[in-house]
Amino acid sequence: MNVSGLPPYDDANVFARILRGDIPSRRVHEDEFALAFHDINPLTPVHVLVIPKGAFVSAADFHAAASDAQIAGFWRAVARVARDLGLEDTGYRILSNMGPDAGQEVPHFHVHLFGGRPVGKMVPRA
Ligand code: AMP
Repeated sequence: MNVSGLPPYDDANVFARILRGDIPSRRVHEDEFALAFHDINPLTPVHVLVIPKGAFVSAADFHAAASDAQIAGFWRAVARVARDLGLEDTGYRILSNMGPDAGQEVPHFHVHLFGGRPVGKMVPRA
């Protein structure tokens, strides 16, 4: 287990392969710290994923192990992507699934950007 309670980073995960360019993605932004691309199964008119350029399993792993520069660069990229996609005026949701209770499917830290329509309340009540 690593810091996040998930197994160690698996270099074969789908986002690692996208980062390496082994499989295609619809990219919207790339810089030194982050890559952003459209989710393959969009839940809103705009549904973009932003991932850091490093081997981080989850939000917990990223914020414990990444450098201050990587953390700042990543979050600046998230905000920039939202702005570039025209989401600032109407708003958007940032979401990151961490671990089993959140249903994290891909073990490379990522945030979802949802927008283009009202996205409702935070999570369904139990
Ligand atoms: P999560 O449950 O937070 O781990 O979300 C993983 C997200 O990755 C889901 O919304 C998937 O639709 C998305 N996804 C999986 N494979 C790909 C891919 N090859 N390209 C783009 N998005 C993907």
